[in-house]
Amino acid sequence: MCIFCKIVAGEIPSKKAYEDDKVLAFYDINPLAPIHILVIPKEHIRSAAGINETNEALAGHMIAAAAKIANELGISDYRLISNIGPTAGQTVEHFHIHLIGGVDMSKRML
Ligand code: AMP
Ligand code: ZN
Repeated sequence: MCIFCKIVAGEIPSKKAYEDDKVLAFYDINPLAPIHILVIPKEHIRSAAGINETNEALAGHMIAAAAKIANELGISDYRLISNIGPTAGQTVEHFHIHLIGGVDMSKRML
């Protein structure tokens, strides 16, 4: 089982930000900004590249969850980032969207 599947199963602890039947969101262990949360599908999908016409609703559900979390945290401005593949920076092979905010990122894209 991958590390994020273990978090879904409760075998590895996490600080939860949101949960429903399809997705889990938890605080990143190594935050890159004051707010850094990971939104993941409970089902194991390797990356956003594993999204196709049979499961595309799940990706929309993840973005909706991110919007809900941001709203609850009172932030209107934030970034959603998903790394696909090692040279793009993906270190965990379980689809996740980074929700990053709480800092002015307007002067830099990366
Ligand atoms: P990426 O590099 O895009 O694959 O993102 C993986 C993210 O998972 C990194 O930002 C890590 O800090 C984070 N991470 C790894 N293990 C854990 C964990 N056990 N709990 C929370 N976040 C984690
Ligand atoms: Zn997994």
